[in-house]
Amino acid sequence: MKKIVIVGGGFGGLYTALRLIQLDWRRKPEITIIDKNDRFVFSPLLYELITEEMRSWEIAPHYADLLATTPIKYIQDTVTNINIEQKEVILANHDSLAYDRLVIALGGTTPTDLVKGAREYGIPFRTLENAYQLKEKLRQLENSEKESIKVAIVGGGYSGVELALKIANRLGNRGKIRIIDRNSDIISNSPEFNQKTAKKALRDHQIWLDLETDIEEIKAEEITLSYKNKSDTIPVDIVLWTIGTKPVRMINELSLPQNAQGKININRQLQVENHPEIFALGDLVECYDQNNKTLPATAQVAFQQADYCAWNIWASLEKKPLLTFQYQPLGEMLALGVGNATLSGLGISLNGELAYLARRLVYLYRLPTFEHQLGVALNWITSPITTFK
Ligand SMILES: Cc1cc2nc3c(=O)[nH]c(=O)nc-3n(C[C@H](O)[C@H](O)[C@H](O)COP(=O)(O)OP(=O)(O)OC[C@H]3O[C@@H](n4cnc5c(N)ncnc54)[C@H](O)[C@@H]3O)c2cc1C
Repeated sequence: MKKIVIVGGGFGGLYTALRLIQLDWRRKPEITIIDKNDRFVFSPLLYELITEEMRSWEIAPHYADLLATTPIKYIQDTVTNINIEQKEVILANHDSLAYDRLVIALGGTTPTDLVKGAREYGIPFRTLENAYQLKEKLRQLENSEKESIKVAIVGGGYSGVELALKIANRLGNRGKIRIIDRNSDIISNSPEFNQKTAKKALRDHQIWLDLETDIEEIKAEEITLSYKNKSDTIPVDIVLWTIGTKPVRMINELSLPQNAQGKININRQLQVENHPEIFALGDLVECYDQNNKTLPATAQVAFQQADYCAWNIWASLEKKPLLTFQYQPLGEMLALGVGNATLSGLGISLNGELAYLARRLVYLYRLPTFEHQLGVALNWITSPITTFK
């Protein structure tokens, strides 16, 4: 029996596995997912935990539950190495797994070594643990005697903007929130409609923008900013660090072809250069669309790659021609607090409550497995949503 091993059960890995089992196999392969965590995280909905619009089981279902009715095997462990010559994946518990086809989908991390104090005092926002850490910090501050709660968000990208507005909803008048970015604008790659809607939402919630501003240092209760070569130290209660994505470190220690940012080089069929038995996708690859434009590290890209990755693994084992990855830009959606969102794409621009609802429904449809979609949908219908609106 052929063995397909998938390292990383996120948007790239999990959706590849789920697609693989839908394909028509002459001889069914053994499919194994390895992930260090016990839960898949649907990160675009992670913000909803801050405002308690959604619960963690909805956003982060357990692999054991998701895969219970499938033939996919799941191992919870950390991948520490890949022996490319022997075609083996090495785990932290020293076990090794042989593969005929390997999928590398370990995603990225948020680099917190760019500024002094960021690692110690900045909270990244990427994992379930980060969301819990932020919630706990907010809870402590809400229960304190403090009149105002000062939050500094480093980075005016999607995460920075979406987080700022959810936190503003949660803290209400007590929240004093600022977004700091070295660029002259926020979410500068966004369609104009989304950018305008987001800026209005930030203004409505009195979220301060420090643009063209660098961070010099972060300490426990203060942050030092630099604007036009002038330093200014201001008090803070929470610093959120939302900038940057880099591949997980282990990837850079492998002898696989990589670009200057440490991303794996793949061909148009999503195979690692010179290693046709290894496929890679998601945040850790350098990938291009049909027009040779570099694709961003997004779930939308990883999700679409997963479809091709599964098909091409099937084709390579069934001796059929492989497909060239074709990216379909479907637009973008941003949560702008509770009951508000903005979306642009496929000729449609929408904001306000309608966009909020549309975003929820699109993501419901994107959740892994029909059983999980059904569970979440039933929960939305039967239980009233308690939020910090
Ligand atoms: C807060 C937030 C909001 C986002 N919002 C959007 C959005 O609205 N739209 C959008 O398109 N994209 C969004 N993204 C980006 C999107 O989540 C990523 O691009 C996507 O998850 C990448 O998929 P991936 O499979 O490469 O990595 P991931 O989904 O991160 O999966 C990687 C998996 O590998 C596992 N892993 C890592 N190292 C190891 C190891 N050594 N051993 C075993 N397992 C390991 C991890 O536990 C994880 O499950 C958002 C990201 C964040 C953080």
